[in-house]
Amino acid sequence: MSEVKKTVLTIALALFAFLPSLPASAQADSTDRKVSFIKGMGAPVDTIDIQDGALQVVLCDDNTWFYIRNLANLDTTSVYSKNWIVDVIDPYNRPLAELPLRNTFILADSVSHWVCPNQTRVFSKFGYRHRRRHQGVDLPYPVGTPVKAAFDGKVRASLYYKGYGNLVIIRHANGLETFYAHLSQRNVEPGQWVHAGDIIGLGGSTGRSSGPHLHFEVRYNGFAFDPEWLADYEKGTLRKNVFVLKRTYLDPSSHYVPESIDEEEDVYGGDEQILAEEKRREAERAAMQFHTVRSGETLSHIASKYGKSLSTLRKLNPKINPDRLSIGQKIRVN
Ligand SMILES: [Zn+2]
Repeated sequence: MSEVKKTVLTIALALFAFLPSLPASAQADSTDRKVSFIKGMGAPVDTIDIQDGALQVVLCDDNTWFYIRNLANLDTTSVYSKNWIVDVIDPYNRPLAELPLRNTFILADSVSHWVCPNQTRVFSKFGYRHRRRHQGVDLPYPVGTPVKAAFDGKVRASLYYKGYGNLVIIRHANGLETFYAHLSQRNVEPGQWVHAGDIIGLGGSTGRSSGPHLHFEVRYNGFAFDPEWLADYEKGTLRKNVFVLKRTYLDPSSHYVPESIDEEEDVYGGDEQILAEEKRREAERAAMQFHTVRSGETLSHIASKYGKSLSTLRKLNPKINPDRLSIGQKIRVN
């Protein structure tokens, strides 16, 4: 039995032990009495500390209950006390090499779940875009669309910051941070606790943005990774409840690749694999060369200058139009 299941079972047993002490009227789910409530629509009437104080049970007036995290308890954990700076984008300042090769994150369990911040197709993906890092995904929407917190957490930053425009950063109990940028309005303040699905702001196009869209980032220790590892934004659903973050994913050229790695490799794959992948990317980047277009040059001129075929150059630069080179444009040549 998994640790999560064991924990849930322990809590459930503890709760059943508690129930008989409730008044009989609260226990009975009788149909012979006239009841004015609908199951699942009850109002919370009591909150009980359980286990080691990390969780609480909320009892509702329709005989239902649910778990919540004990926020006062959570507030004292290192996640919410270390590297907590409200006006700095990356307060961690840690070298990548210091981070563990792999980390396991529970994204959804009995106390935490995912809500898609803005459900739509990904308009622009994570990775390099015109040699600049794109640290998140772009999710288009009309101005004023509500933007929702992806998970429960505490707002670390809510500010206007350079290219991000209006930006909200939420830190989650598992240590991940989510970024919501280009908002037209921010509804939250640093230090505020939010639940998954709470509206933290409204969609907009502030900062460096070519049109209304949510720029959504997920970071670990200040390093962004492709948010598509976590969720399918078009469907609005998480890909996995338990996510294994490899250090290689924190490289800006590492993309989510559907079905590329099976579960077994993810969990049992050797550390050598991760180190080898890091080396390969480093070598690839070191070997990359660019040519700056000069007046009168065509793509075939450039190709022959570097001893490459025209088709190789087109493959290396999928987004350029060979008939419309501009002076000063960078062309990748190997
Ligand atoms: Zn973006």
